[in-house]
Amino acid sequence: MSKIVMCYVCVNCGNEMTDLYKQYSPSVLKLTNCTSCRRVADKYIEYDPVIVVIDLLLLNQEAYRHILYNTGFQNHWKLAVVLLLVEAYAEWTSVQGRSSDALSPSSHWFQGEEQFYFTCIYSVLGCGMFFSLVAAVTSARWWLLPAHKPPTYSFLVLWKGIVLGSFCRFLFIPSLIWGQVGSWHHVFITGYTLLAQLRAYSVVCNVSLMASAVVITLGIALKSLETHQVTSWVLGTAQSCLCHGSSSAGNHSGSCLA
Ligand SMILES: [Zn+2]
Repeated sequence: MSKIVMCYVCVNCGNEMTDLYKQYSPSVLKLTNCTSCRRVADKYIEYDPVIVVIDLLLLNQEAYRHILYNTGFQNHWKLAVVLLLVEAYAEWTSVQGRSSDALSPSSHWFQGEEQFYFTCIYSVLGCGMFFSLVAAVTSARWWLLPAHKPPTYSFLVLWKGIVLGSFCRFLFIPSLIWGQVGSWHHVFITGYTLLAQLRAYSVVCNVSLMASAVVITLGIALKSLETHQVTSWVLGTAQSCLCHGSSSAGNHSGSCLA
């Protein structure tokens, strides 16, 4: 007997489903009820994508399950790259705004450009460190409590969930358009992103928000400790290489004044 492949989940309870609807004709289909909670397994099949996005913004766990498990959305890596660039650019403009008065006009652009690349490296290392720590803590949890591990869990799904939970960083864009990112806006986006990542983690691991808060907060705390050390080493090495290259080429543009 061939093994039944479970591809979908019920957006209400997370139960695995073999199908979400039965199509009787090109214009007639019947949504499948979940065998566990007896509710319609995925109501979003009949909804407009705008409704799904609104529910995603409202941190609705049904919307997260729908996007993660029941859609063909496969561009998470593109979303991750765009979010990293947005975050790095927002941080870079914030630093540039604070330090522009201290820089001479001749060195402003060269030093600013370097700073942007360093900020990108910092963001990539920080996000990589954060995911690694969250995945490590989650693996330790499954090792201690193997019965609680959902069958749909994998590192890939966890990564997709964290990327999806980071979509709030798009809110940096209005600040970039209207001016520099203010501290109150930065705090709001950071808090909103934290809540979205908590929701995504709770959906992927099928745990409560409190348990998600423990893991995500631990990941953020450890990331902030480790990233500063790793990034300092990487940036120090990169800057020393740039300075060495500039000095050996006789470049007196002042790009290594920092
Ligand atoms: Zn269900």
